[in-house]
Amino acid sequence: MSELRNLLDTIEVYKPDFDPEIVEKAYLYAKEKHEGQFRSSGEPYYLHPVAVAQIVAEMKMDVTTIITAILHDTIEDTDATFDDLKEKFGKDVADLVDGVSKLTRIESQTLEGKQAENFRKLLLAMSEDIRVLLVKLADRLHNMRTMGGIKKPEKRRRISLETLEIYAPLAERIGIHCIKEELEDLCFEQVNPEARESITNRLAYLRDGGGAVVNDIIAELANILKDAGIDAEIKGREKTRYSIWKKMQRKNVAFEQLSDIMAFRIMVEKVEDCYLVLGTIHGKYHSVPGRFKDYISTPKPNGYKSIHTTIMGPRRQRIEVQIKTKEMHDEAELGVAAHWAYKGDGQSKNRDVTKYRWLRELLEILEQEQKPEDFWEHTKLELFQDRVFVFTPKGDLIELPNGATSVDFAYAVHSDVGDKCVGAKVNGRIAPLNSRLTNGDQVEVITAKTQNPSPTWERFVVTGKARSHIRKYIRNQQRDEFIILGRAMIQKIFRQEGYDFSEKSITGTLKHYKLENNEDVYANIGSGMFVARDVFKLIFPSHKSDTLSRPPEHMDQATMAERPDNSDGPMPIKGLISGMAMHFARCCHPLKGDRIVGIITTGTGVTIHTIDCDTLENFADTPERWLDVSWGDESKDLQVGRLLITMANEAGALGTISTVIARNGGDITNFKLKNRTIDFWEMIVDVCVTDTKHLNNVIAALRATPSMISVARACGN
Ligand code: MN
Repeated sequence: MSELRNLLDTIEVYKPDFDPEIVEKAYLYAKEKHEGQFRSSGEPYYLHPVAVAQIVAEMKMDVTTIITAILHDTIEDTDATFDDLKEKFGKDVADLVDGVSKLTRIESQTLEGKQAENFRKLLLAMSEDIRVLLVKLADRLHNMRTMGGIKKPEKRRRISLETLEIYAPLAERIGIHCIKEELEDLCFEQVNPEARESITNRLAYLRDGGGAVVNDIIAELANILKDAGIDAEIKGREKTRYSIWKKMQRKNVAFEQLSDIMAFRIMVEKVEDCYLVLGTIHGKYHSVPGRFKDYISTPKPNGYKSIHTTIMGPRRQRIEVQIKTKEMHDEAELGVAAHWAYKGDGQSKNRDVTKYRWLRELLEILEQEQKPEDFWEHTKLELFQDRVFVFTPKGDLIELPNGATSVDFAYAVHSDVGDKCVGAKVNGRIAPLNSRLTNGDQVEVITAKTQNPSPTWERFVVTGKARSHIRKYIRNQQRDEFIILGRAMIQKIFRQEGYDFSEKSITGTLKHYKLENNEDVYANIGSGMFVARDVFKLIFPSHKSDTLSRPPEHMDQATMAERPDNSDGPMPIKGLISGMAMHFARCCHPLKGDRIVGIITTGTGVTIHTIDCDTLENFADTPERWLDVSWGDESKDLQVGRLLITMANEAGALGTISTVIARNGGDITNFKLKNRTIDFWEMIVDVCVTDTKHLNNVIAALRATPSMISVARACGN
C-alpha cells in the first residue's frame, strides 16, 4: 500500500482539499482487475498503472487524470468495460480511459521511420482531450524506466527508437520538459550507450576543468547588462547529452566544435534594447563569424522575430544567445493560440485557456522537431483536429482532410487506384465507398479493371485530387459521346444532300474554326456549339437544296431520340441516332416484342438492352446515356434469343432439343454446356427467331419434351 500512500501524499501537496477515497477506490479496482497479471520484470501488473499515476501526479494534474492513469490499462487488458468505468468513476474518466485504450491499440501498429511525423499527428488528432496524451506519455515513461525487465536487447532497442521518434518529441515542452529529456536519455542509453558515456565524461571534464556552468554565465551576462543600464530577463540551459549527440551527428562535428552546449535567451522591453544588448554583448565578447542573424529587421515568413548570435562567452566557451522583446516572445506564442481559435469551430469556445496552452505547446513541439536548431523559436502550425489519419494495409499512414471517404483514400494512394475502385474494406469489413473514415482506420481498396469513376462520387469526396480526377474522367467521357453524336449528325447531312462523307472535308474547316483536329469539330457539333448545317455550308458554300433552306433542326440528343429514323431504309429499332452503330446487348439478348432501351457507349454506339436487364443498373447514374427506343415496324430481321436449359442427363437428349427447335422454325446458332453432373445437364442455347412470340413458342415446345427439367430465357452472361 506504500505506493498508494506516496500517490496520495504527492497529490495533497498541490491539492490539499482533494478526496482521497475516490483515488483509493480506483487503486483497489485496478489491483483487483489486474489480479494475476504480471509485468515482464515479474512484479504484479497493477504497480505499473499506479506508477503512471504517480508520474501524472508529479505533473500536478487534476484528480480525473490521476484516476485515468490508475485505470489506463483496464479496458484494454482486463474484463472491465467502458460502462463499468462509467458507472463506478463517471463518464469523464471512462471517456479518458477509452481514449488512452485507443492510443494503445494504435501504438501496436508497426511503422517505418519516415512515418513518425504522421504518427505523431495521428496521436495528436486522436487525443481529443489532451489529458489522454499526457497519460499515454506517462505510461511510456514508466515503461521506459522499467525497461530492464525486457530480456531481448532488440526489443528494447525497437521500443527505444520508437520512443525517440514519436513520444519524446510529443512530450517536449508540454510543461514537462524533464520527461522529454528523461525519455531521450533512457532511449540514448539503450540505443548508443558508448556515445552517451563519452558525452557524459566530456561534460564532466568541461565543468571540472574550469568551464563555466549555466548559472555562472547567466550571472555574468546579467552583470554586464546591469552595468550597461539595461533591464533584462535572462534564461539559459545546458543542452542534454542526447541533443548534443544529435547535433554532433547532424553537423558531423566533434564535441569541441559544438557552439551550443549552452543556449541563452535575453528578453527586454523595447526593440531598441535588443540592439543595445547585442552591442553590449558583442563589445564584451567575440562573436563567432557567420552565426549572426537579425530576424527583427527581417522577420521570418511566419512572422518570427529575434536576434540570434553565437559568442565566445565567459571562459572562452561558445554559447548561443537569442535576444528579443517580451512582446515578440508573446506574439510568437499567441500567434499559435490565435491560429487555434481561428481554426476551431463552435466547440473551441468551450475549451478553456489551459487547453489552448497545451495545444499551443504541442504545436511548438512539432514545429521544433522540424527545425531543432531554432531552440526557442515558436511558429504557427497547422492544427490536426481537421485531419484524419488512416492506415494502408501495409501500415503506412495517409493524411486526409476530415470527412474523407474511401474514394478520397483510394485517390490519395494513387490516381489509378481511385479510378478503378469498386469497394473498400475498412478495418477488414466491406464498407460503402462514401463512408467517412475515422482516425486509425485501416483501409483496403478493392479495384476492378473495368471500373470507371462514377459521377456520383463527386457528391461525397472531399479531396481536390479525387474531385479533379472524377471531373476529368466525366469531361472526357462526355467529349467522346459528343464526338460520336456530332460525327453522326454531319454524316447524315452529307447523305441527305447526296455527298459522300469524307474526313478530309472536315479537316478543311479546321483553320476556319481554329481547331486542332476533326474530333474537335465533331465534339462541337455534338455538344450543340456548332450547328451541323452551318458546318456543311462552310464545306459546300455553293450547294443549294430545299433541305438547307429549312430552319436548322434542333440537334440535341433528346429530340433526335424521339424522331423515328427513316433516312437509312428500314431500321430494326426506332429512335436511334442515325449514323451511330447499333447492336444488341449480349447480356439480355433483346427480342422483338421486348420492351427495350438504348445505351450510348463510348466508341461502340448504341447498345440495346431489355428494360429489365440487370446491366442497366451500371448506367443508373448517367441518364444522359439512355436513349428511348422501340422496335421498328419494318424489321423483318431474325434475332437471337438465348435460352437456359436444364435437362436430365440421358442418351439422345441433345438430339431431342435440336429437333424440337428446328421443328418450331428456330435455328440453333450457339451452344454452350454450363454445367454437367451425373444427373443433369445445364446449357445455354442461342436460337435464331423472328420475335418474342416466336421464341415463346420454341420454349413451350421444349418444355413439353420428355426429360426436360426447365427452360427459360437467359439473363446475364
Ligand atoms: Mn500501460
